[in-house]
Amino acid sequence: MLEKFDIAVIGGGIAGVSVAARLSKHAKIGLWEQEDLLAHHSSSRSAAVFISDYGNSDVCELNLITFHEMQSKYPGILQQRGLMSLEKNGEIEEFDKHAKSLSLSLISVNEAKEKAPIIDLKSVKQAAWREDVFDIDTDLLIQTFRKECLSNGVQIFTNSAINKLERNKDKWTLNSKIQSDILINASGAWADNIAQLANLKPKNIQPFKRSMARVEIDTSNNLSSLPVLFGSDNTWYAKPDAGSMIVSPADVSPCEAHDAWADEEDIALGIYNFETMVETKVKKLTSNWAGLRSFAPDQSLVIGPDSDATNFFWLAGQGGYGFQTCLAASQIAEDILFNQTSQVPNSISEKFSPYRFA
Ligand SMILES: Cc1cc2nc3c(=O)[nH]c(=O)nc-3n(C[C@H](O)[C@H](O)[C@H](O)COP(=O)(O)OP(=O)(O)OC[C@H]3O[C@@H](n4cnc5c(N)ncnc54)[C@H](O)[C@@H]3O)c2cc1C
Repeated sequence: MLEKFDIAVIGGGIAGVSVAARLSKHAKIGLWEQEDLLAHHSSSRSAAVFISDYGNSDVCELNLITFHEMQSKYPGILQQRGLMSLEKNGEIEEFDKHAKSLSLSLISVNEAKEKAPIIDLKSVKQAAWREDVFDIDTDLLIQTFRKECLSNGVQIFTNSAINKLERNKDKWTLNSKIQSDILINASGAWADNIAQLANLKPKNIQPFKRSMARVEIDTSNNLSSLPVLFGSDNTWYAKPDAGSMIVSPADVSPCEAHDAWADEEDIALGIYNFETMVETKVKKLTSNWAGLRSFAPDQSLVIGPDSDATNFFWLAGQGGYGFQTCLAASQIAEDILFNQTSQVPNSISEKFSPYRFA
């Protein structure tokens, strides 16, 4: 006997839980996650930063929509932190490009030192700044969506990989025991694998590994008030987190979908580049990890029905902005699946349609 659902969501990261929460008032929903816990992969490994100008111009529209809903409906998720880009000798072009792409304003190095006392003015030649950059409480956000799911009757199955998909007439059968009218592919780095399992064409969604280290640094300064610090040459970024600093080498390494881990050399390089720009030294490497940022070829999310099977819904290609786009993305999914209008105009949602690859 098949267990029946209106919508089956594959993937328990931010994409899956946010869309399941959004749709939970409309339909009987099941969510399947292959790991023991939700958010085991990319969604527990991010830098947890919200930068409204991060991503291409289409993605930035999703950032803004998400920002407004996050501020109004989910108080406490965003905390202002600020962001500073730092240039050392000889990277003037990269610095200008970086500052322009993130809409940063040039500030004097003395002002930069006031805002971030750990920076080393012997190394920092220029600085640019933006106040309205936020920390995202990603754990709280995931838990909030999970609770919303559970209170609206979503069934969440962890330790439950979907490894067989069959399409009969207008219904999907999952693992030969679950039936669903609609399938949502929110499987992150595995999005193309799920399409192949469904006998559909992949969208060339490519995972890229990015590493991160948690470090203790030797300083008497109050770390918690530091902004996010970026090397404008894109070789490192860092921010305070729970009493220590997290430092990333900003690596972009293409790979297959897998449970990613950090490469020691990447971590060492990131820490070295960070240390060249600050007065202090790293005392201790507490932990390190890596996660996958998965991008479609045009770096925009893929949201909408597949052109060869309209009840296969893509929610993929979240890249480096899965948290800061999640509410706009789930809103687009609700609008399309339930044929409704919202604050997201069609002119925006159309840009993310999988039909662009057909
Ligand atoms: C180092 C780093 C820094 C980042 N910084 C930021 C940031 O500052 N701000 C921001 O907004 N974003 C950031 N991101 C990006 C963000 O983390 C991702 O865009 C987001 O987590 C992707 O969410 P997801 O749900 O699509 O994927 P995931 O979290 O990977 O979830 C997909 C889930 O699908 C499951 N799955 C796959 N196949 C199956 C199957 N067959 N059956 C069942 N389950 C399956 C997987 O186990 C996985 O849990 C960062 C990412 C990294 C790696």
